[in-house]
Amino acid sequence: MNFDLTPEQDQLRDAVRALGRRYGHDYFVTKARSGEHTTELWDEAGRLGYLGVNIPTEYGGGGGGITELAIVCEELAAAGCPLLLLVVSPAIAATVIARHGTEEQRKRFLPGFADGSLKVVFAITEPEAGSNFHRLGTVARRDGDDWLLSGRKCYISGVDEASYVLVVARTEDAVTGKLKPALFVVPTDAPGLTRSKLDMEIVSPENQFLLYLDDVRLPADALVGESLDAGLPALFAGLNPERITVAAMGAGTGRYAIERASEYTATRKVWGGRSIGSHQGVAHPLAHAAVQVELARLMIHKAATLYDAGRDLEAGVSGNMAKYAAGEAAALAVDTAVQVLGGAGMTTEYGVATLLGAVRAGRIAPVSREMILNFVAQHVLGQDKSY
Ligand SMILES: Cc1cc2nc3c(=O)[nH]c(=O)nc-3n(C[C@H](O)[C@H](O)[C@H](O)COP(=O)(O)OP(=O)(O)OC[C@H]3O[C@@H](n4cnc5c(N)ncnc54)[C@H](O)[C@@H]3O)c2cc1C
Repeated sequence: MNFDLTPEQDQLRDAVRALGRRYGHDYFVTKARSGEHTTELWDEAGRLGYLGVNIPTEYGGGGGGITELAIVCEELAAAGCPLLLLVVSPAIAATVIARHGTEEQRKRFLPGFADGSLKVVFAITEPEAGSNFHRLGTVARRDGDDWLLSGRKCYISGVDEASYVLVVARTEDAVTGKLKPALFVVPTDAPGLTRSKLDMEIVSPENQFLLYLDDVRLPADALVGESLDAGLPALFAGLNPERITVAAMGAGTGRYAIERASEYTATRKVWGGRSIGSHQGVAHPLAHAAVQVELARLMIHKAATLYDAGRDLEAGVSGNMAKYAAGEAAALAVDTAVQVLGGAGMTTEYGVATLLGAVRAGRIAPVSREMILNFVAQHVLGQDKSY
């Protein structure tokens, strides 16, 4: 068992940390409040190669794995910049195309992922289906060589910033029953694709959208992979990287909140000469949150290591557990930080309450804590499914 990062991973972590700190949480919040995106940070991270760490070298990437991408997600979040699009574009979309796209699709898309110039978002959730993917109603039907896509998607992050959206649909002849997914790379400006922004209670420069697909016409090569059989493995290929990187983002956010809070409680004095952090009623909740975050980091490291070793099934269990643990730990850490900062905790200036919405959402998306518990109950504990 090895708990050390390699020297290259150490260097990556230090470099991303330095970049994140140069921008910091004030930058993130200013962008969010003004309705702008974190374009400067994204572009600089892309130029430095951090967004393409997991892309194979032959397509211009760093040749690393999800371990490296998780480091990038965690360190930017630990600097107060949790970038959700890292989870959708390089983690999900790039992995799906790298592992299951055609060679033509790899050549076309991967170099853009490698330098961050291409953003592809991911659309699976639908209003009627919710957590039950077997009810997905977005349908792809053949029209000559083309495909026509119709359906509705909800909560889709970052559509306004992306060139493409990777849409999970099902074909006309598999409209009912167990999901046999077909994945399509859809240009965000395709005729027939419209969107409306959802108002969310999250301070974030990234927005969520309802998407309407009304007979969106796509060429044959918009289908990911050589044939319809690629759909299911392609969808599964995206899930583990999604869970691991979103967990890393949660752990980084937890670290950020605990660091801000600890700095404050170590110096704030309201009872004579002792800091408020000397009182165990203040220090223990912070220490407890730190333990939870560190435990989540261990599971993230395990899940990423298993994934990069090609042990997908085991990575699925660890990735789900990591996502669960990190989601809970991040919510606990931010809530605790707000509490120990007192009134300052609720100000924008101290930069912790600004994360309350994001960490709360992290217990729901991209997979809810209940669906992870269902997964563990069924696949680890051998329990029957109730649904
Ligand atoms: C900020 C944010 C960003 C998102 N970004 C994206 C994105 O980019 N792309 C995308 O496709 N989706 C995205 N989503 C959607 C997200 O993945 C879904 O919200 C999530 O999967 C839950 O689905 P739902 O909201 O339909 O909840 P529902 O399925 O309606 O569930 C509601 C509640 O019931 C619980 N529940 C449902 N079924 C069961 C069961 N069998 N057992 C126990 N509990 C159950 C759930 O856990 C949940 O608490 C995003 C959501 C948010 C909040």
